[in-house]
Amino acid sequence: MSDKQIDLRISGMTCANCTQHIVRALETVHGVKKVEVPGWKSGLATVIAEGDISPEALTDAVAGAGYTASIKDLPALEPIDQAPGNGGSGVDFDLLVIGAGSGGFAAAINASDLGKRVAMINGGTIGGTCINVGCIPSKTLIRAAGAWYAAGHHPYKGVGTKQVSLDWPTIREQKDDLVTSLRQSKYVDVLAAYPDITLIEGHAAFQKDGSVRVGEHTYRSSRYVIATGAMPRMLPFPGLEEDEPLSSTTLMEVEQLPKSLIVLGGRAIALELGQTMARLGVDVLILQRSPRLVPEHEPEIGRAIKEHFEREGIGVITGVQFERLSRDGESRIVHTRVMGQDREFRADQILLALGRQPNTQGLGLEHVGIKLDENGAIVVNEFQQTSNPIIYAIGDVTNNPEFVYVAAAGGRVAAQNALTGTQMPLDLSAMPAVIFTDPQIATVGLTEAEARKGGYEVQVSKVDLVHVPRALAARDTRGFIKLVAEAKTGRLLGAHVLAAEGGEVIQAATLAIKFSLTIDNLTDTLFPYLTQVEGLKLAAQAFTKDVAKLSCCA
Ligand SMILES: Cc1cc2nc3c(=O)[nH]c(=O)nc-3n(C[C@H](O)[C@H](O)[C@H](O)COP(=O)(O)OP(=O)(O)OC[C@H]3O[C@@H](n4cnc5c(N)ncnc54)[C@H](O)[C@@H]3O)c2cc1C
Repeated sequence: MSDKQIDLRISGMTCANCTQHIVRALETVHGVKKVEVPGWKSGLATVIAEGDISPEALTDAVAGAGYTASIKDLPALEPIDQAPGNGGSGVDFDLLVIGAGSGGFAAAINASDLGKRVAMINGGTIGGTCINVGCIPSKTLIRAAGAWYAAGHHPYKGVGTKQVSLDWPTIREQKDDLVTSLRQSKYVDVLAAYPDITLIEGHAAFQKDGSVRVGEHTYRSSRYVIATGAMPRMLPFPGLEEDEPLSSTTLMEVEQLPKSLIVLGGRAIALELGQTMARLGVDVLILQRSPRLVPEHEPEIGRAIKEHFEREGIGVITGVQFERLSRDGESRIVHTRVMGQDREFRADQILLALGRQPNTQGLGLEHVGIKLDENGAIVVNEFQQTSNPIIYAIGDVTNNPEFVYVAAAGGRVAAQNALTGTQMPLDLSAMPAVIFTDPQIATVGLTEAEARKGGYEVQVSKVDLVHVPRALAARDTRGFIKLVAEAKTGRLLGAHVLAAEGGEVIQAATLAIKFSLTIDNLTDTLFPYLTQVEGLKLAAQAFTKDVAKLSCCA
């Protein structure tokens, strides 16, 4: 019987060594003559073997090495130079990326690394949301406000309050300087290091013939990646135009801080900016529609962060039904119903932090058959492919979680799949999420309720920070660490942290979940003393022990 070629799709490869593991595993199978893995990012292995070889023997061998394999059966996508409507060599690019934010850059760099002709079209400021109006400006303001607050400039404390006036214009300018310098070093200079990536400035829209128009020019590509991000959602409340509420973008730009601010919303952006403004001396009231803050998180976290906020003097009301907005001179008014009663709340300014709206308007998506979900986000499969097989989409414009590292990971996966024919999934099975309040909220994996709903028999442990030496030494024992594990195997399913610098703790739990570690693995691992992440080990020990009765590091 003659030899045959079998192509395998491999998942779980995370570095160059993995290719060797796969090759070695497949070479042990009787009848295999040659194995090729074109690189760990490819997600592929090609096997030449005797004609009667069993494909299951190959997938079993890969599984034995700790990876997952399936027989590759790719949908029949034309080679990129013969893609539909592109007239083969008539295309301008192999990959055309629309949007030069974090996701778009990751896709373009990956395509360039593959030696492809790639262009990015950008209609706004280069670098997109994270650097210009998102992660960077918000986190530097949070840090400034935290330092101001820690130094005793607390508008509500009374005793010990120092009468030093806050120089908001300087803080804002320092924030702008940081944004400008990072935009230069992380985007403009990076682009210059890839001369084969063409940047086209302007707004892009798909045309009926499948091409993309920017101003007077039309471009054709073999594959496309849409990475146009999202913008603050301005829900159509009656009175919205009269009230002119602020968004996260405009709040961080105001000339003068308002005296009072009502924040509509109770998730990441609402809490981060609400606390920042309060610490800078603004009288803040948070109004949240859901019965608790951060409703997707463990209920303990929502309750505890509300208490911490209230202790700082931040007002929090949950279960609020928003009716309309209005204005009375300089006062802005939010008309609501709370527990069946009409209530109105007044402030100098209102921050609308009720989610973000994917940037799909005006993109001509109807011309290329791209499906949107009920929120207007582009629907993609795990390979980041839209309902049009030659068009991929990534980041905030899709229904993926809105984090910059998810957008960038999506960019890498989309470029790889679009240009090499692989079917690499975007693996979000261990996705950490951090809300940069003080204390921080940091989570990964399943909540207790999600785990139970998913059919797991679970065990749970919770350690208050009063048991964590680092927190005691820092005299900041606000918060706790909660772990959710599978009862039968001890495998960690979720970690939920409310703690100062909780974002630094969560990555160890993320690795544990990604690599299926158990509670015993955590307790058997050395954790440095005194670190906040030691709390993770204590929470693991708490499954079987009373941590109050343990001596240091025992
Ligand atoms: C206040 C705030 C704080 C945040 N903090 C964090 C954080 O701490 N950590 C974190 O991980 N994430 C954070 N995020 C989320 C993060 O910023 C986004 O998830 C990420 O930037 C999305 O990247 P993207 O590439 O999908 O889109 P973007 O970065 O928004 O890029 C989209 C680009 O496409 C361009 N564009 C739009 N339409 C067109 C068109 N028709 N033609 C051409 N170009 C177009 C835009 O101008 C933009 O440059 C925060 C967001 C906000 C708003």
